[in-house]
Amino acid sequence: IGGGILISEVIVDIKNKQVNRSFDYKIPAHLSNIIDVGFRVLVPFGSTKRVGYVISIKNDTLYKKNLKEIIDIVDVKPILSKEFIEIGKTIAEENFSFYAKVYDAMIPSILKSKYQKVATIIDFNNRDGELKEIFKRKSVIIDNLSIDKQRIIYSSFKKGLVSIDTKLKRIPDDRILMVHLVDQLYESRIKRIRELIEYLIECDSDIEAKVIKDELNITEADLNDLISKKIISTYYIEPESKNESVEVVNEITLNTDQKKVYNSVSYNENKIYLLHGITGSGKTEIYIKWISDMLNIGKSSLLLVPEISLTPQISSVLKSRFKTKIEVLHSRLTNKERYEAWKRIYNNEVKIVVGARSAIFAPLDDLGIIIVDEAHENSYRQTNNPKYDAIEIAKIRAKNHNIPLVLGTATPKIIDYYKATNSEYELLELKKRSNNMPLPKCELVDMREELKTGNRLPFSRTLISNLKKNLENNEQSILFLNRRGYSTFVMCRNCGEVVKCPHCDISLTYHKYKNILKCHQCGYMRMNVESCDACGSDKIKFVGNGTEKIYENLQSILPDAKIIRVDTDTIKSTTDYESYYTKFKNHEADIIIGTQMITKGLDFDDVTLVGVLNADLALYYPSYDSYEVAFNLIEQVSGRAGRSKKPGRVIIQTYDPNNYVITSAINHNYDDFYNMEINKRRLQNLPPFSIMIKLSIKSLDKIQAFNEINMISSSIKSRSKSKVFSPNINDFKRKNDYFIYSIVISLVDDISVDIIKNLYPKYQLNQDVILDIERI
Ligand code: ADP
Ligand code: ZN
Ligand code: ZN
Repeated sequence: IGGGILISEVIVDIKNKQVNRSFDYKIPAHLSNIIDVGFRVLVPFGSTKRVGYVISIKNDTLYKKNLKEIIDIVDVKPILSKEFIEIGKTIAEENFSFYAKVYDAMIPSILKSKYQKVATIIDFNNRDGELKEIFKRKSVIIDNLSIDKQRIIYSSFKKGLVSIDTKLKRIPDDRILMVHLVDQLYESRIKRIRELIEYLIECDSDIEAKVIKDELNITEADLNDLISKKIISTYYIEPESKNESVEVVNEITLNTDQKKVYNSVSYNENKIYLLHGITGSGKTEIYIKWISDMLNIGKSSLLLVPEISLTPQISSVLKSRFKTKIEVLHSRLTNKERYEAWKRIYNNEVKIVVGARSAIFAPLDDLGIIIVDEAHENSYRQTNNPKYDAIEIAKIRAKNHNIPLVLGTATPKIIDYYKATNSEYELLELKKRSNNMPLPKCELVDMREELKTGNRLPFSRTLISNLKKNLENNEQSILFLNRRGYSTFVMCRNCGEVVKCPHCDISLTYHKYKNILKCHQCGYMRMNVESCDACGSDKIKFVGNGTEKIYENLQSILPDAKIIRVDTDTIKSTTDYESYYTKFKNHEADIIIGTQMITKGLDFDDVTLVGVLNADLALYYPSYDSYEVAFNLIEQVSGRAGRSKKPGRVIIQTYDPNNYVITSAINHNYDDFYNMEINKRRLQNLPPFSIMIKLSIKSLDKIQAFNEINMISSSIKSRSKSKVFSPNINDFKRKNDYFIYSIVISLVDDISVDIIKNLYPKYQLNQDVILDIERI
């Protein structure tokens, strides 16, 4: 091949291990000079036509024989920039994901629906010959024309006589389809249908069809079948109007500390800053200053925040500052709104994008700054396919654009703080709250002492008396517990048998309200047991405290208090979240009891008491960073108290009062905690002194899974210095009937990295054994 024939390298939109690579196609002459990197094209694949992403243009190929030709273009402009094509390759390769899936994740889903291409003649009155025949009117739909005529249009397009645009064939429906359960007693043989019925019974209200499809793997056909059998019915509702009231906010003058931080960032340089500022120190105000500066010099800004912080309050504050220049991407947007927002960003109509994890893919050019708020949050990592870490992508983008990246947080990750103390990042600090209010006072309660005095309740006497005092003063309280449901497990007092999930082998949690037992891993549910499955005894005991039980206990101790429970059982959607938020804000409740959902973003003036019911729970989580997570949790949740004029107070209940996590958290002393923790990590060769990865093998066959994981572990042990924590035969997890064996590897050399990279192709073709590699 030669003579100016162009080849394009295409990722075909098929998610299959065997085709997870690019294919070469010839670019037909009439489309040369049009097709570029980032276009989607229609290509022949086997006997089908498929859409693909063009990832490079070249003039030679190894597959000269049988080289097929691109059929048509899908877009008339690149849908993904060269930057994103490259980032997509990196993500797919580092996380062993499908290329097509990664690119799909970068564009709004509506763009994957049917298009029409419309050609418009620029000078209608002076068209001649062939064009006169095609353009009877000013515009025509290209897709309906013969190939010959299409060729003429594309060559006229290249000469600048014709413009081409794309139009969605069908503007999607914005209405929301709701599902209503008609027949509660229906019994299906199909597991997912049974789960659906149970889910609808448990929710006790109508549910969006989309939620059902996403969460329970229910298909359109399932729904239609159930409708025809009159088991369910469906109806449409209009989406709530999102005319957010825009709060008018006065400009704030930065205080001295804020100014210092603000001035420390240099704009035209690729540098990573770690902004360590305690809660309420005014970080957000500094972000706004940087973003305004960018706007003034015509550059765009990207602000990533955790989804849970994207409350209507935050967006209305930002919108009042930046008017039409800003796009806030949150999960409540409909597909159509998301698409329209994307188009405005793509067309350079907005300069500021605020959004959760996936906003890192916002197609902003001329980026001037990227800011990640609450940078310690795990939610920046997407753990299901395609896996990616938005902060890692932010680093790549900041480097590509030669701009600063700011990581803001009150509780930096140990790894980040280590980098900041070793000049890899520049450290910026805010040590005071902007209104000079002190951080809330923390008080420790040793729960072992409570037990000695005969108090078996999950609440200490101090906590109860403070809750009562708050009720009398009409102030609000937040209680934090890291466990939902009623009790953690159900055990037979006669034989010790614990009721477990048949698919996952973990204990089921009792949910009293519905009188069911539920698996928190796979969602399996069964009715509560009256007698033991193993020995038949009826001496059933409920062990451990969940939010539901705590709620019930507390209500009986404080019968006059209005209490709300907030966890994933009571909060199913952002609307639920907002309704409880408003309720608490308007002081229609006195106490919130909740799980981690309540640790962030809540900013209520009247909250003066925060109680952490069992601070130790997080400490015993089997992960190298459990202490870090526990410290962050306590710090974040105590930051909810005393944010405004009234001083706050925090009560931390623990069985381990001498643990350095607890002692440094009660003094809000990050430095102390960091010093202890980094020493431990250094001694044990844990991150940042190594890279930890978790490698899992999943199979329906237990022995096969165990053998595979052992082979991998011994090949790493024999050839590298990396430490491998291997399992024994009984250390498996079960999930959806699969047996899962995992090894944790602390990587200290490149040899093990190579061994692991080489593993992947081996398992690519194997459908029985599934390999999963995850950085932890
Ligand atoms: P952070 O993000 O660090 O937790 P915020 O930026 O949300 O803190 O600031 C906390 C509160 O202090 C907000 O209500 C904010 O409006 C206010 N604030 C921040 N900076 C100033 C300032 N310089 N002067 C007065 N109020 C400020
Ligand atoms: Zn028993
Ligand atoms: Zn299960």
